[in-house]
Amino acid sequence: MAFTLPELSYAYDALEPHIDARTMEIHHTKHHAAYTTNLNAAIQGTEMEKMTIEEILTNISKYPAAVRNNGGGFYNHNLFWTVMSPNSEGEPSDQMNIHKAITRDFGSFENFKKEFSAASMTRFGSGWAWLCVDAGDKLFITSTANQDNPLMDVVEAKGTPILGLDVWEHAYYLNYQNRRADYVSAFFSVVDWHAVTQRYNDANPGALNF
Ligand code: MN
Repeated sequence: MAFTLPELSYAYDALEPHIDARTMEIHHTKHHAAYTTNLNAAIQGTEMEKMTIEEILTNISKYPAAVRNNGGGFYNHNLFWTVMSPNSEGEPSDQMNIHKAITRDFGSFENFKKEFSAASMTRFGSGWAWLCVDAGDKLFITSTANQDNPLMDVVEAKGTPILGLDVWEHAYYLNYQNRRADYVSAFFSVVDWHAVTQRYNDANPGALNF
């Protein structure tokens, strides 16, 4: 079964002025599309054709680099588009489980934002910053290089990613040039906390017991 490039649930210009339409269009129709095509080519005729992307990524040490790079790229961008929205409220409301968990594990939303931004800024070169749930139902922040992600059995900090920020230059260079800090700051204006809290609840049924 071939993987397919998902449609976005909003228009390319919907996240402006925070993320510009041209960047969104190239990012989706060129970068994400290429990862999808190259992933399908890399798994053709192998056992991976019958696996979900999550099954492939959690066993990625068994597979060639082309699957790690393009499978990561396919999964990471799928997640990225769905944790952003033009209707972002900026931060999660007090009633959301993700707000309660962030307060529990980072002290405050402001402190979480500071730590997530630091992870985004200190990732040297291309990669991603992540908010994840670990095996003990606790939240943690990490970053990974290239198209790796916390599902992969090859990374140090493993968990279920529920929020991801693409810090490759292709994600911001047209609008922000070298100013990654401005892009990271703008990202918080478009995070869909309803989607993140849904991912948190799915990753962690225990989360409902606050
Ligand atoms: Mn990207």
